[in-house]
Amino acid sequence: MKTCPKCNETKELTEFTPCKDGEKIRYYNCRKCHTAITRAWKHAHKPYRNKDVKKTQKRRNKESILLATKAHTLWNAEDIEKLKDKTKTDKELAKMLGRSNISVIRKRVRIGVNKNVGSA
Ligand SMILES: [Zn+2]
Repeated sequence: MKTCPKCNETKELTEFTPCKDGEKIRYYNCRKCHTAITRAWKHAHKPYRNKDVKKTQKRRNKESILLATKAHTLWNAEDIEKLKDKTKTDKELAKMLGRSNISVIRKRVRIGVNKNVGSA
């Protein structure tokens, strides 16, 4: 017989879940209390469980994309089309689009408009 410190009830040893190491060592609290504690813990730590973590990450990604769009670090298709206009200089485009010269130059190199940056 063993007394559970949680509910103060004296119960048979079989009412205490054995630990992984063997039958001799058993959990401190009785089966009923142990289940209740585990359930409460799971409930309290819900956001950390796998399914919820993925959901949180998805939401955070969405938020960061939105922030980047707002901060004009992401390029939209319309702006990219303007960058392809070879009659305009990087400086003119930067002014037109409200971006820094360097971000326009970098993007133009990436889309293949400026090929000779660095070698000129
Ligand atoms: Zn108990």
